[in-house]
Amino acid sequence: LSFEELSIDKRVLDFLKKYPKPTPIQSAAWPFLLAGRDLIGVAETGSGKTMAFAVPAIVYLLHLAVERKKKVKTTSSTSVLIVSPTRELALQIHENLNDLGNAVNIKSVCVYGGVSKDDQKRTLKGANVVVATPGRLIDLVNDGAVDLKAISYLVLDEADRMLEKGFEEDIKRIMQSTDASNRKTVMFTATWPPSVRDLASQFLNNPVKVMI
Ligand code: AMP
Repeated sequence: LSFEELSIDKRVLDFLKKYPKPTPIQSAAWPFLLAGRDLIGVAETGSGKTMAFAVPAIVYLLHLAVERKKKVKTTSSTSVLIVSPTRELALQIHENLNDLGNAVNIKSVCVYGGVSKDDQKRTLKGANVVVATPGRLIDLVNDGAVDLKAISYLVLDEADRMLEKGFEEDIKRIMQSTDASNRKTVMFTATWPPSVRDLASQFLNNPVKVMI
């Protein structure tokens, strides 16, 4: 796959051209994600997995923005949610998304535990993408600062690590609070143990599985 073969927004294409070519996980994942399929990506950090789910997320948001302009009623709720096992990974994803999002006027915010909720609540207003760790996300949902019902593109990154860290119940609560009939779901994981398989079969809809 070449970048040009993706029929996507020119600004996104121009952003991607700082790289020589798509990585194998990107080549494998993009056609399916751009076509709206649920997807399981089995890939390690360093494979380019963040852009593998971030580029289709941004393209999806640009598409939503066009759809909303056509309608009288507009909504500014967050549509894309990325759940990550650690603050460090969440910040890394957020940085990647912001670089890309800046090119197309899409705003990403990052929320995690251990710091004040008030600042995070302020930044959440008007955010298109939320990158979050599970515990703080649930906390903010309980406070009414995030509406999970409005999420239509959801990424579980490093799902195996989230389960290892004991976030299974949190993840289930998050998934059950979204609208499954209006949700694309993407799961990335480095390994494929039965616990991750169970999670995938519970929450993904006829997913494509790509391994690199
Ligand atoms: P990740 O696997 O998402 O942690 O990405 C690892 C690194 O690869 C990051 O620093 C990205 O900026 C970089 N990267 C992402 N896509 C590409 C690409 N197509 N070609 C080269 N590097 C890339």
